[in-house]
Amino acid sequence: MADRFFPNVMPDFIAETPASSPSYESEPEAGPGTDSLMRLLSTPYPVLSQHVKRAALDLKETIVIETWGVTGQRVHDFTLYAGTLGTAFLLFKAYQVTNNTNDLTLCSQIVKACDSASLGSRDVTFICGRGGVCALGAVAAKYAGDERALSYYLAQFKEIKLPKNLPDELLYGRVGYLWACLFLNKHLGEEMIPSSITRPVVSEIIKNGRALGKKEKCPLMFEWYGERYWGAAHGLAGIMHVLMDMELKPDEVEDVKGTLRYMISNHFPSGNYPASEEDKGRDVLVHWCHGAPGIALTLVKAAKIFSAQEFLKAAIDASEVVWNRGLLKRVGICHGISGNAYVFLSLYQLTGNVEFLYRAKAFSCFLLDRAHKLMSQGEMHGGDSHYSLFEGIGGMAYLFLDMVEPFEAKFPAYDL
Ligand SMILES: [Zn+2]
Repeated sequence: MADRFFPNVMPDFIAETPASSPSYESEPEAGPGTDSLMRLLSTPYPVLSQHVKRAALDLKETIVIETWGVTGQRVHDFTLYAGTLGTAFLLFKAYQVTNNTNDLTLCSQIVKACDSASLGSRDVTFICGRGGVCALGAVAAKYAGDERALSYYLAQFKEIKLPKNLPDELLYGRVGYLWACLFLNKHLGEEMIPSSITRPVVSEIIKNGRALGKKEKCPLMFEWYGERYWGAAHGLAGIMHVLMDMELKPDEVEDVKGTLRYMISNHFPSGNYPASEEDKGRDVLVHWCHGAPGIALTLVKAAKIFSAQEFLKAAIDASEVVWNRGLLKRVGICHGISGNAYVFLSLYQLTGNVEFLYRAKAFSCFLLDRAHKLMSQGEMHGGDSHYSLFEGIGGMAYLFLDMVEPFEAKFPAYDL
């Protein structure tokens, strides 16, 4: 399946050598060819991060023009995943990095349009539903000091009703709603969305997981459209990821650990992970949505929360697959190079090991050096929604902003 990814011929590690790259002290010029990529890779981090920041802010301007300016400020798809709310979330990130209040103001304007466009939506999650619109609207309002908008969005958020037949997964299901609650609590205060609202949702998820899980083998299992997925977007990894941020009872914690252990003991010989229970013979996808990258992020979180070496070792093993097969011929966060880079960033944050920072840098520099050329030549897919956060170059812009302060990087709408 070599046609899904570019062979990774970049060195496994290059130590930074500030003295050997005097030509990059002010303005590294990225161009085609191995040499320009290699020069970027050995650029001292403080210089590179300024370069990446400029590229990110230029990309952000393009994305705003294409998704907001050119469309006459009309919202066709309001979602954060592939639509206009993704641009608002990118602007919020840019504001966090640069403190430029113009970005915050524009973020709020775009959320307002998404609010009107999503009033009739029955989707509840942060990434694909009304939860994201109301939660980001409230948080942006708080930072802008707009009390009226803050109470409006909070009231709207509390109006969201979870249908009985809701799935449990991240993009459309219960944990996607819980993530919106976590985002609000992180920015507005721990009890903003109290446990009286979130706890029944957690209990429902655990109940559903146990009903489909096998006590001894895999304690929790879930279904989405008839398939028992493992990945971050629709499956176990995404559900465990959010559950670990909730207050769990001791037996629930054990079930989360047991589920992760089941996944670890059933990975492919290559180190990659199946997309689902039904897909255990098909070692193909190395995406955040399906495969090792999304699962590695969850394992890193488990290693951190449970202080457990077993999860750290499994996360590092999974990251090797991402390094070798994760230089995808796609640009985005969901199933592209930008998303895969976050595996290395999360391991760097947990371990402090600069080899992981180098690998995040390598994926980012590959994009910085070549993405536009490869996309224009048709050798790399720029996403069905080309400017979107999860499928398109919005994700690349987000990654570049995160590379400015890699210790603070967080996979968008997934890591808190
Ligand atoms: Zn995907």
